[in-house]
Amino acid sequence: MSLLIRNVLFNEKPTDIFIEGTLIKQIGQDLQVNADEIIAGDKKAVFPGFVNAHSHAAMTLFRGFAEDLPLERWLKEKIWPAEAKNTDETIYWGTKLACLEMIETGTTCFNDMYFRPKQAYQAVSEMGLRAMITDSIFDFFDSERREHAKRLTEENLKLAQTFDSTVRYSIAPHAIYTVSAELFKWSADFAKANGLVFHTHLAESRSEYENSIKDFGLSPVKYLHKLGVLSPNLSLAHVVWVDDEDIQILADYDVKVVHNPLSNLKIASGYKFKYEEMKQKGITVCLGTDGCASSNNLDMTEAMKVASILQKAWRFDPTVLSEKEALDMATINGAKTFGINAGLVKEGCLADLMLVDLNQSTFTPNHNTIANLVYAANGSTVDTVICNGQVLMKNRTVQGRQEIIDNAHQMARIIAE
Ligand SMILES: [Zn+2]
Repeated sequence: MSLLIRNVLFNEKPTDIFIEGTLIKQIGQDLQVNADEIIAGDKKAVFPGFVNAHSHAAMTLFRGFAEDLPLERWLKEKIWPAEAKNTDETIYWGTKLACLEMIETGTTCFNDMYFRPKQAYQAVSEMGLRAMITDSIFDFFDSERREHAKRLTEENLKLAQTFDSTVRYSIAPHAIYTVSAELFKWSADFAKANGLVFHTHLAESRSEYENSIKDFGLSPVKYLHKLGVLSPNLSLAHVVWVDDEDIQILADYDVKVVHNPLSNLKIASGYKFKYEEMKQKGITVCLGTDGCASSNNLDMTEAMKVASILQKAWRFDPTVLSEKEALDMATINGAKTFGINAGLVKEGCLADLMLVDLNQSTFTPNHNTIANLVYAANGSTVDTVICNGQVLMKNRTVQGRQEIIDNAHQMARIIAE
């Protein structure tokens, strides 16, 4: 299968992009190639597909379900009891709904932390996206639950061997307040032995930070350092409550950080995300939306804008976190974090791309296409999405859309009952 995108705006110039199989084969002007399918790129601009580096896909069914509560009450009173009603079917349709929304807003790859990987895998592979999926583990400091989590993870890894190459299994202990030191250490060893992405929530809220000091005598980062689980394949979601020493430790171990500005703001976890300090130490910072229960949508354009303006606001400095850096956080930095040859429009890279419609008011005038994408537009300006060389959306049409929406409504009723 080959694909030619004709005359699309790339680096502010009309350009042709030839895709063969899963890769971007050739980029240039007036390419003389034969392609199975031609996409007219006029009045469109091409960007790498977004990499959403932290999500809880099937939680899209909880959109608007538990609003305006503090994190602990939100989890204990609303989310955890409702999650107990999840079935294979709710996970499958919830994940499909998330994939639909991600495709419609330009995301081609996501790093997910949720449950029932078999159903999640089925949904993701049918939708054609690239993803890391998992069965997030908890032991609540209980030895029986710990052994169960280990057994389940081992079984899931066997299951993951049947996955397509676009979906990988990862290991994701939930957080330091729900997972024991022993299970964290076991997870780190398991990730290393099996070459898995290793992901957790860390230093998200003030209460997590204060409890870490109280229970372990250390900040969350120093606690994980003491456990010996820091490594380049570890990515940490949030990392709001850190000091200079913590940042130096993360840099020393080349740990990756996922900024989730919208959920940090909405559930009031904190807003002084130390992007500049992390950047100065060479830490790879990528971007996530978090789940729809806490940030209500999966639109990475919104996450880019908020990441950038939040940084400017609390520092009283409009020069920090430029539009170009925001785009890198949402694309190449995520691809680097998960070791994926994507995140760039470049010959030899995976053909994970999106075309935005420039014939929209938010792209008019178009002095600076990246600035318009980050600061003016939203995900609804995405017109076409290609992942792994396959067209997933064209002229804003995704196959099977209505069936997904209808089933998602039905599944959401089961959970909310
Ligand atoms: Zn999360």
